[in-house]
Amino acid sequence: MEPRQIPPHLQPTWQELMQRLQEIDHLRRAVNVLIWDQNTYMPPGGAAARSSHQATLNRLAHAKFTDPALGRLLDALEPLREALPPDSDEAAILFWVRRDYDRSRRVPEAFVARAAAHFSQLFQAWTEARPQDDWQAVRPLLEESLRLSQEFAAFFPEHQEPLDVFIDHSDPGMTAARMDELFRELREVLRPMVQAIKAHPPVDDRCLHQHYPVEGQRAFGEMVAACYGYDFQQGRQDLAPHPFMIKIAQGDVRITTRYREDDLAIGLFSTLHETGHALYEQNIHPRLADTPLDHGASAGVHESQSRLWENLVGRSRPFWEHFYPRLQETFPDQLAQVSLETFYRAINKVQPSLIRTEADEVTYNLHIMLRFDLERALLNQELRVADLPEAWRARMAEDLGVVPSNHRDGVLQDIHWFSGFIGGSFQGYTLGNIMGAQFFQAAMAEQGPAIQEEMAQGRFDALRTWLTERIYQHGGKFLPDTLIERVTGRPLSVQPYLEYLQRKYSELYDLSTVQAGTPGD
Ligand code: ZN
Repeated sequence: MEPRQIPPHLQPTWQELMQRLQEIDHLRRAVNVLIWDQNTYMPPGGAAARSSHQATLNRLAHAKFTDPALGRLLDALEPLREALPPDSDEAAILFWVRRDYDRSRRVPEAFVARAAAHFSQLFQAWTEARPQDDWQAVRPLLEESLRLSQEFAAFFPEHQEPLDVFIDHSDPGMTAARMDELFRELREVLRPMVQAIKAHPPVDDRCLHQHYPVEGQRAFGEMVAACYGYDFQQGRQDLAPHPFMIKIAQGDVRITTRYREDDLAIGLFSTLHETGHALYEQNIHPRLADTPLDHGASAGVHESQSRLWENLVGRSRPFWEHFYPRLQETFPDQLAQVSLETFYRAINKVQPSLIRTEADEVTYNLHIMLRFDLERALLNQELRVADLPEAWRARMAEDLGVVPSNHRDGVLQDIHWFSGFIGGSFQGYTLGNIMGAQFFQAAMAEQGPAIQEEMAQGRFDALRTWLTERIYQHGGKFLPDTLIERVTGRPLSVQPYLEYLQRKYSELYDLSTVQAGTPGD
């Protein structure tokens, strides 16, 4: 990037910093190519070598980033932090690099290596234990993970509690206490809402469970992704067992999906979800390429975009008024006799279930709260790993009224606790739901008629342009709280999200017994 704001005598120092950061960025992007390949086309025989290739590149990137020479450059540029306009790119780069550098330096190399070796062993054990439902095989390893997580958190004693360290890493500025408050406000409304919906006869969603050949699913999903504005000249979609989006470069942002021929919703909504993530990355301003700002603002803000495009747009009535006839053309044998109303109800069916990733919009956050509370209790030594399965079952019964009969669909369900530190990986999903609704409400308040008119024609330029100007182009420049205030004019609030759920699901189910109320009362 052009150092527009840097005074001449500091230009060489700035340039050297940027060059070092660019090298680190390139190493990390190369790791992303390896990760993408590992999860799409790599033959099983490549697994062992691939892990060590990644470890080597990660170690090089880490060594470059924690090099004391980089610290000296930051020190030399310290006077700039006062002088630069606070919302300039340069000030943001210095802020984030200083923050990450200081943090990285506080964790000893030996600890990083020990933790990496443990997590790789645990992940391997989990991939074998889960299909066999063998909790005892991973329990001692998970206990070691908990010790490592507490040890790691202790490197950052300025935080209130261990979970804060991990939350602040993926959702900067957020704390366990604030999450707890947001969750309390949500829970007050969601639990009775789920109860009220459960009192209704289940929605008939058999139309989604006919035979849907993959080729038609792929063609339709990619057509919608292109209508959203995903640029297939600067991206591609492939198959992966656990769909994800990954950025190789500004001009190469890839998505993955998975199909089931007996379930139309899985592939389609997975594509729309990952497209949301990809639209964010594809529309970061090109001048931020190769800088530490060339990524989304946080896990939560990123998830706000996948949820917005998947749910607020992709599961909405106006969307399907345009696209349903096209879906019927793609699958005439399956859908010609199925009404739009039947289809719309099927894709928005609410039903408490065991699996988080398959949960509907209403029950999803209850799955997240469960995990958040359990990992907080583990880290605060209020819950033992040995008691985790029972705590899981008790909470499922209380919140969702369904209880797993095995560990596979219970405590062994998610990859997150079995591939890294315990803590910080779940709250971003719910933050995404909350932020997505708040951003969408702001977009509708400003651009509503244009957005609606376009959507009815299968076009999304007004919405995507609005999101690009307000959110996407800035990449990782702003703290999430700052971004939300700038974009919506108010602090983070669960209100838009609860209003959205109330409005949508009151129309689908009779929710007269559920108080909209003011959450927090
Ligand atoms: Zn996502």
